[in-house]
Order: sequence, then C-alpha cells, then structure tokens
Amino acid sequence: MSKIVAEAVIRGAHEIYKQASESLNKAIKEKGASQKVEFPETAFYFPMANALLGAKVETLKDALAILEHAKYLLPKLPTEKVWLPYLGDALNAGMSAMFSEEIIVAIRYLYNQEPQKDCNGFFSDTIMRQLGIQLVDGRMPGFAAILGAAPDNKTAVQIIRELQERNILIFVGSSVNGRSIIDQLLEENVQMGWDNYIVPYGRDTISGIFVLDWAIRSALTFGGIKPGQAEKCLLYTKERVFAFGLVLGPLDDIKYATGAGAINMGFPIIADTDIPEIKPSGITTYEALVKELDRKKLVPRCIEVRGIKVKVTNIPIPVPYAAAFEGERVRKEQLYVEFGGKASTSFEYLTTKNADEVEDGKFELIGIDIDQLEKGAKSLPLAIIAEVSGRKMQKDFEPILERQIHRFVNYAMGLMHVGQRDMNWIRISNDAFNKGFRLKHIGVILHAMLHQEYSAIADKVQVKIYTKQEDVDRLLVQAKKAYDERDERISGMTDESQDTFYSCTLCQSFAPNHVCVITPERLGLCGAYSWLDAKASFEITPTGPNQPILKGEIIDAKTGQWKNINDFVYQKSNKIIDKVSMYSLMEVPQSSCGCFECIVAIIPEANGAMVVHRDYSGMTPCGMTFTTLAGSVGGGVQTPGFLGVGKLYILSNKFISAEGGLRRLIWMPKELKELLGDKLKQRATEIGDPDFVEKIADETVATSSDELLKFIEKVKHPALEMEPLI
Ligand code: SF4
Repeated sequence: MSKIVAEAVIRGAHEIYKQASESLNKAIKEKGASQKVEFPETAFYFPMANALLGAKVETLKDALAILEHAKYLLPKLPTEKVWLPYLGDALNAGMSAMFSEEIIVAIRYLYNQEPQKDCNGFFSDTIMRQLGIQLVDGRMPGFAAILGAAPDNKTAVQIIRELQERNILIFVGSSVNGRSIIDQLLEENVQMGWDNYIVPYGRDTISGIFVLDWAIRSALTFGGIKPGQAEKCLLYTKERVFAFGLVLGPLDDIKYATGAGAINMGFPIIADTDIPEIKPSGITTYEALVKELDRKKLVPRCIEVRGIKVKVTNIPIPVPYAAAFEGERVRKEQLYVEFGGKASTSFEYLTTKNADEVEDGKFELIGIDIDQLEKGAKSLPLAIIAEVSGRKMQKDFEPILERQIHRFVNYAMGLMHVGQRDMNWIRISNDAFNKGFRLKHIGVILHAMLHQEYSAIADKVQVKIYTKQEDVDRLLVQAKKAYDERDERISGMTDESQDTFYSCTLCQSFAPNHVCVITPERLGLCGAYSWLDAKASFEITPTGPNQPILKGEIIDAKTGQWKNINDFVYQKSNKIIDKVSMYSLMEVPQSSCGCFECIVAIIPEANGAMVVHRDYSGMTPCGMTFTTLAGSVGGGVQTPGFLGVGKLYILSNKFISAEGGLRRLIWMPKELKELLGDKLKQRATEIGDPDFVEKIADETVATSSDELLKFIEKVKHPALEMEPLI
C-alpha cells in the first residue's frame, strides 16, 4: 500500500479524533456528562458504534467510551525510515475516523448545527424502510457518495445525470476550497431530494458519516445482524450494499481518512485526480482506491469498480429516461402543457385485445398534438388507451399493467404523472417540449416498457391517444365500466376461493431469511405486492421471487397454517422458520423484513392490538415510536405479538383473524384512520359495529397505555370482552 495514502489516512484520523475530543469535552463542560445526545428518528443510537461495538450511546458520557475506542484504534504515523505494509493501520485509522465523526455530528445536532442549509443531515430509519422495495427489486442498483466539487457546474450536472440515468441513488456533499457540488447543483436548478435520487448530506467531509451510518443500519434492519457483530455487519455492507465514494477534486487528509472508513465497509473510492491507487481486493470486491482522470469515463469506471449491475433502459425519446427521474416535479413555471387534475378530463386505460386486433408498436393520435395548442392554452383533454395482446395475457393482469403507466411516464425527464385511471394528472415541461417531446413519445414509452418488463405476457402493444373532448368523454364511459368490473372481480376474491398462495422472496437480497406469503386477502407487508401482482410476476418470470405454493393439507384453519406453506417457508428461510400462520399475531406470525408499511403490536394490558404506520413519528401507547418498534421487529425474524403488515391488510377479513380480527384494534394514528377512510367504516359495518371506528383510539386521546385503557373503557371497546390475548 502507498505510504502517501497511509500517512494521509492516519493524519486525517488523528485530526478528526482531535475535533471529536474537543467538541465532546466542550459539550460535557457546557451541558454536563448526563446530557442526552441522539440522532433524529433512529432506533440505533449512534449507528456505527451500535453496529460495530454494540454500544448504546444515549448521553455525552456514553460517547466518551466511543471516543476512547477511536483513540485506541489510532495508529502512529509511519516513520520516515521503516517501510511496513500499512493497510491494517490505515483501515484501523478509517474505523477510528468513523467513530469520531459520528461523535462530531451528534454534538452538532445537540447545538442545532445540523442539518446544514439545503441538506438532509442524518437519514432516518423511516427513509431506509421506504426505499426498501426499490433497493431489492433492482430499481436502485447502487449508491454513490460524492465528495467535493466538479471543475465546473456543467460537469457536475453531467456526472449527476449519468448516475441518475443508471438509477444510482446519489448522496452529494463535502467541498473543495469552499465550493461544494451541492451549490453547483443548486445554481443549475437541479431538483434534489429522495424522489430525485439526489440527497445532499452536508458541505463538509465529516458529515459524510451520515451516508455510512445509513449503510451500516441496513445490516441491522434488513440483515437480521445483531449490534456488536462487527465482522458480519461489514461483510453484509460489502456484499449487499452496492455503494462507492466518488471524490471530485483534490483529496485532503480528512477525505482520505473518511474514505478509509468507507473501504472498511467494502465501498471503493474513485477519484478524478492523480492519486496513488490501492489495487489489491479483499476488503472491497475489486480495487479499493482508483483514479479516473477522464471525467467522461468516471461514472462507468465507478460502476465497474463496485461491480454494480445496471439495467440501462434505452427508450428512443428526446429526453433522458430512467427510474431516477420518477419523483421529479414539473412546477407551474416550467409547465408547457398539462392533462387531468383540475385542468382537463383525462384518463388512462389498458385493455386486452385479440392478436389480430393489435399491430405491435402502432401509435395513433386522434386530435391535435401539443405543438398545435391554441395560443395561450396550457391544457388538453387526454385519453391514453393501451391495447395489449398475448397468449398468456389475462383480464386479471390488466390493472397491474395499467398501474405501471404511472411509473413508465414518470421515468421520462420533464414529465410528471400523478394518480391513475380517471384520476390521473400529467404535466410536460417546457424543457421536454423544446427537446422535441410529443404525445407519440408516450406511445413509444408504453410500447417499449411493457415489452421490457412484461414480455412474458404482452406479445403486442399498440397505443392510441385522443385529445378531442367528445372522444375523451365517450371513451371514458367505457373505461369507467371496465374499472368497476375489475373492482368487483378483485373484491370478491378470498383465500378460500384459491388453492394457491404465492411467495415473495425479493427482500432476501437484504433480509436473507425472510419469506412473505401473499394470499388474496393478505398482501405483502411492503404494500407493493398483492396476490394478483405475485401471480402476474410468476407468469412473467417463472423462476423469479414469486412462486406458487399449493396450499395442500390444512393444519390449523384458525391461525391459517398449511403443511405445504410451512414446508416451503422452511426451505426458503434457510431452514430458520419451520411454521408460519397467515392470520395470527401471536402464534408463529409471518416474519418481517424491514420495509413494512405498518406494525401491529400487542398491548397486553388492554387485551388488544395497535397499529402504527411508518409516517407517524409520535409516541404510541406501547411506549415506543414506530422507529423504535421497527428496530425490534425487522431482520426476517418472527416476533410473536408484533407483525409488519401492508396498510391494506388492516381492511382484510383475515386481519389477525386468529385473535378476533379488526375488533382487537384499539389504537391507530389519526392519519392512518383517515387514509383508510370510508373503507375502514365499511369494514366496521361488516363486523356489525358501524360506530367501531370511533372506538379505536388515536393520538388525540391516548399516547400512553393508561390513557388508552381509560378511553377504551369509556367507549366500551369490544376488545375488553374478548378472550384474553395472553
Ligand atoms: S412482498 Fe415481502 S418479500 Fe416481497 S418485496 Fe414486499 S416485503 Fe419484500
């Protein structure tokens, strides 16, 4: 290993330790050793110290022990005369740097100095869970942490766009000579935020620890690894978190030390300056530290060095196209034309046709295009009709394919799509129009993407777009009839009516022992996969993560246990889970991976259960916030009394039916009640208690178990009369 690099890393780690030591001692002097110190919305204390040392830092005094450990790891600087292999020392220095950096930024939080202006700061556990599906289904194949600034704004934007086109989630920050890539992107009006795959962490290198803290938590959240299992955590990040560091501009000692920390986690560093390289692999999959001076080759080089598998979607349209543009908004000032919303009548409808009725790739526009708008007009009526034929195409797949129109249209840069069916709202930006985007390109997108993702069921696709009011109105009547028929078909589907359930093992890339079993009345816990989705997915990829499981012999109808399901789960959970109930909270419940929409938790003293969704950050009556609860439920393990679920499962007839179903529900956040709205009221009527929703407490009446008990006694909640839960 290069002595220059080792020296710089060790010098940097000493400097970071010094800063941590000074700021911690100052904070103790000013606020006292028992002062509480924490990051927002995490169940993992100081995540790096928690994951690698098993430490639970809650006060400044606790942080002192971590500082001590950082000091212990600090090697001496290499001497002039004695030449040794320095890799071990440099890696220890990198570890030390990460622990010290965590202390520095935590104390900044104590003094309200984080998050920095325009930056995200510490990334919450909730965000990690929300991104769970994109991480596991390949939509987000990797992560880039950019440090520094590009030589000019144009290059900064070019690098960002190249990463976005590959759907890499990009963390931006740090700086060079006082200039940060964050400011370069702001000056160029590049939209940032999680939805745009560009997240600014902070303008100094030390705040880069927020990215590493985020990565290490995935080992604890999804990997089922226990705090303190350092080697397992680091192996997990190396093998499952496809991150790399990209340093723009010269490296200083702090960057070298932080980079060495990242290398410990298996994340290589790529620089655009002439630095000594570290070629041997082992700690990282391939090289650990490399340079690429040609900025045009920088992004491909990063992908190669980290071994990221990128699916590039080449759609022949005049604007860039990638999942990373999905969350981009088209604001009023950028608007060229819009459809739907409050602006006009608009809908989208996908239907099955016979093979002889569909000419693959055909596009028809009936009405004017967007370059023929009347002067001053900013909207048009719109009907998008996609007609699909295929030997394996089924009526049941229509809504699944149709739902993808939202995603497919959104992937185009400069296009915004909200909603679905006759509630859609599409905007096209001035920029996209000026680049040549026209309505036919929506046809091009749908044709290409339906073939790309659904080739096993869609043999031919043609698209018709109507922009005349009378056509749109006439066709909307037919579409609405089809929407209603679909709803009836799906709502009539029960677990008893089907002999096959489906597995989902998509999350095993992060939670290796987790298996979801998806039934018609119980969707996957992430909320993204219904039984029909899983069925369609199996038709598309017969060897994929969604496999049919013939239920076979029933073992227990009440808890929902079948022999074949148990056998399947046992094999697919790496022989960890041998029994699983479909409908029970208490007896061998399904395991939870980490990306659940909600958690159901028992409240024994009230003989009931509560449910909390991940957007609710307040306290719950079980004495824990969602974040704290989630910390003990995930990782692919079964936790009787606690269950990760999809939101819609709450409305199911089979919702914890072994414990009495919906009647057991005694608390849920107000927002969740509102989200479930009329459907929840309807379920209440179905269980014979039309006022039941009012009997479920929320945070406005109870956030502790005492308050909850008082409330449910007052409203005579049925849970009080039910069979004891324990
Ligand atoms: S259904 Fe289950 S395994 Fe599949 S993506 Fe969702 S949470 Fe993961």
